[in-house]
Amino acid sequence: MNTNKNQFISQQVIEDVCEWEIMHGVAFRQDDNTARHVPFSIAPITMERPVYSHLLAVTPLIAKLVSNVSEDHEFLQESLRDMAKADPFFGRLIELHQQAHGDVSQSDEAARQSLLLMRTDFMDDRQHGAKVIEFNGIAAGMGPFGQRATELHRFVKDQWNDVYNAWLEDDSAVPADNQALEQLAHGIATATNKVKMHFSALDDENDQQKPTFLMIVQKGEDNVYDQHLLEVALQNRGVRTVRRTFEQLSTQLSSGENKRLILNGVGTIDTVYLRAGYQYSDYWAPDLNEPICCHTLSQTRLFIEKHYVAMNATISQQLATSKSMQMLLTLMPAEDYARWGLTLEEAQLVKSVLADMKPISTETIEWFNSSADKKEWVLKNQGEGGGHCVFGEDISDTLTKLKPEEYDAWALMQRLYPHERDTPTIAIRDGQQTLVKDLVSEIGLFTAHYNGDAVTELSGYAGYLIRSKPASENEGGIHSGQGILDSLVLI
Ligand code: ADP
Ligand code: MG
Repeated sequence: MNTNKNQFISQQVIEDVCEWEIMHGVAFRQDDNTARHVPFSIAPITMERPVYSHLLAVTPLIAKLVSNVSEDHEFLQESLRDMAKADPFFGRLIELHQQAHGDVSQSDEAARQSLLLMRTDFMDDRQHGAKVIEFNGIAAGMGPFGQRATELHRFVKDQWNDVYNAWLEDDSAVPADNQALEQLAHGIATATNKVKMHFSALDDENDQQKPTFLMIVQKGEDNVYDQHLLEVALQNRGVRTVRRTFEQLSTQLSSGENKRLILNGVGTIDTVYLRAGYQYSDYWAPDLNEPICCHTLSQTRLFIEKHYVAMNATISQQLATSKSMQMLLTLMPAEDYARWGLTLEEAQLVKSVLADMKPISTETIEWFNSSADKKEWVLKNQGEGGGHCVFGEDISDTLTKLKPEEYDAWALMQRLYPHERDTPTIAIRDGQQTLVKDLVSEIGLFTAHYNGDAVTELSGYAGYLIRSKPASENEGGIHSGQGILDSLVLI
């Protein structure tokens, strides 16, 4: 019997939906190898159709811009030099980039082919409209969970229609189609087959091997099911999938004919996909006792780039999707995007979704402390994966502690305040429900391009991920923070 006053939804529904999640792989791995369901919202968030259409139109243009910037090696070196001096991790990346594309003979230039799998994250600001939070070009995961969230809400709607309707904001709303898992798999499989065909055209090997996809993962990763969902979708498309850490790869890779990448015990590799490599610790191998930290494993990444494989993320893509590059592109006049093949109209569309950003200097700090409205800004460094943003009053403290040589690693960004959901929702975490009255959402749109060409069945667009959180929480990671998985309906 339900005697708890705080229960808005019957425990039966909650158990049913949590079990649906586990059955469909929407879970995190726990230390003891059991699975924990991903926290979710009982009903989707509403967006106005024109806002959504605008994002669908602009996101492939952002991908085109980033893709072309990422192949402009001279520009990457010049424009990110100062930031790379201020941030040791990016210092290392820019060095690797130089080794791949700088002072090398043509025969030694990185032969990797660019597979850009990107998630562009937006918040729909009440006053300014939808704006980019950040570009994710490396390890942009959770697409599979995004598609599953749409399916989960369909399941609630079909099976527990009263519950669904009770928590839906607008009865006339229609779910936004979401094929993120299938379309990302389609894009990766397409690129993988192209590499395979490149080698069969060279006719220098009589390999009967299936097209093969290598996912580079973190040691002890707990977000494995999102990754496995993608692997299964690839297997269904005839692609063999393997997983390795950088540390394992450091002793298992070799070169075949014509810059073919070979993995010990597996054979030829067509595609390499990084779900690791966006932080120093991914390259740290204590057992190797290195005089220079992280040398071996970052050279492993460079070694891969010297081969003919479809690759995401390339070092270049990682540089092009950095927060520092986001700031440079924001500060640049739209006309300058012509360098990367965008018409003025396309450039203006992209600019329409970029929120104000400011570099850090003595003057900015003075201005911020004396006259800025502190609630209107977020301070960020180059870190990825959560926990690197500073909000409100804490910004002044952090700015005061920065040494001038660290300034270029940081930037101020206009703080976005998304619409709060009109109808409260129920967040379900660890099988427990809580009422959330001020839910806000971040929408991530996935795109997939191979050497600049769209490789999804939706002109480069793949699908979306909605992460929601109470407005009072600054960062809403689903994985660590108070974030919940969500989906989208349109009015
Ligand atoms: P990360 O690489 O760590 O994901 P983000 O730029 O996405 O870095 O910031 C992490 C989180 O901080 C975002 O998901 C969002 O919740 C919050 N955040 C970041 N920038 C802003 C902003 N300009 N306005 C409001 N919230 C922001
Ligand atoms: Mg983010």
